[in-house]
Amino acid sequence: MARILGTGIATLDIINTVDGYPAEDSEVRALAQAVRVGGNTANTLSILAQAGHECRLAGALAGDMNGRRIASELELRGVDLRHARRIEHGAAPTSYILLNQQNGSRSIVHYRDLAEFSISDFMDIDGIDSCDWLHFEARNCDDLAVMLAFARSVVTDQPISLEVEKEREGLEALWEYPDIIIFSRAFVQGRGFALPEDFLREARSWAPQAILILPWGERGAWALSKNNQLLHSPAFPPIEVIDTLAAGDTFNAGLIHAMLSGRSLADALVDACQLAGRKVGQFGLDGLLTPLAAQENVLCPLNSLPDPGARGFEVEDGGVMRAIFVVRQGLEAYGYLNNCPHLSAELNVTADTFLDEDGRHIRCALHGALFDIEGGRCFAGPCEGESLTRIGLRVERGQVIFRASAKPPQLR
Ligand code: ADP
Repeated sequence: MARILGTGIATLDIINTVDGYPAEDSEVRALAQAVRVGGNTANTLSILAQAGHECRLAGALAGDMNGRRIASELELRGVDLRHARRIEHGAAPTSYILLNQQNGSRSIVHYRDLAEFSISDFMDIDGIDSCDWLHFEARNCDDLAVMLAFARSVVTDQPISLEVEKEREGLEALWEYPDIIIFSRAFVQGRGFALPEDFLREARSWAPQAILILPWGERGAWALSKNNQLLHSPAFPPIEVIDTLAAGDTFNAGLIHAMLSGRSLADALVDACQLAGRKVGQFGLDGLLTPLAAQENVLCPLNSLPDPGARGFEVEDGGVMRAIFVVRQGLEAYGYLNNCPHLSAELNVTADTFLDEDGRHIRCALHGALFDIEGGRCFAGPCEGESLTRIGLRVERGQVIFRASAKPPQLR
């Protein structure tokens, strides 16, 4: 696994999901609220850490309550903070995000009043040359140009990537250093380009040495290789788009992971779009790159299930296809064979309807047998005392994971 140094900021995101963008000077009730660590580089590192990479954050961390929360959440996700600069009396940057459930739009109010990670902080990092990849976020450009020049002078073979999300003063001082520059669609459109290929050809003159990358939401992503080959990958939309926040950060993680694994640029672009597509189908970043053991399959993100609620799946188990259903209760998921012990028939007649009206019990639609959710035991109805067959499931980092039984041994 690789050692990755990411230079950028970490924020606390306070995300309110609303049923429509509120009118000015009005009050609305949020449908849901989540508080989680954000910031482009922090997100990208958190995802890369899932794949077992050694990820180190070079960024400023405030000593206030929010800052401490950011630090502990990052550490929990496996991000190493040994190079972070702790600013005891600073206030952590926060992003108040309104996520409009109707159209997925994300409106962000960002607050920041924390000193930047400085040139001397960067130069004090021990062992930059032992890193396999250096990733930077384009901000504070005058200082960043010095850091990039320094990095370039100490690392020779290791790639340096730069993410350019927003228009900022002094960007042109950065172009000469990176091997890979990832632009955002918003930046490109802000420069007046409607077509990705037009922008990439223009940007080629800024950074003749670099691979240029341009993710473009639901249209996928483009790349211009060092020898000016234009590559494109489509997007990989999930069945339902649930949360597009940090799609770009996930794309970056997917790209870095793929390139570190020796994938070609064309394949890395596809891998990055696939990972970002998976991300927009779930809430948050957990479980995106976690390797699964053999025999394990991700069924769905836990947050894509209603709470309480249930969904049916077809899974391969021991070499045969089986109908199962998964019941969600808060942070838990329970899985059962879709087979009522009464008449050995499926429990549901309409799709995904496995619970009673208030969602507190499993109910067979045929004869009304009721089962408890936690154990699958029938406590009322024609098969009282019998149980549903439990299926091996676990919830890890936000994903519901199904473990198939071992295949039956082959008969000679
Ligand atoms: P950002 O989060 O920086 O605005 P983009 O919107 O460009 O980033 O998305 C980054 C990547 O995420 C895209 O290249 C694409 O692969 C994926 N993506 C974003 N939105 C969707 C979507 N609605 N469906 C499928 N993939 C998406």
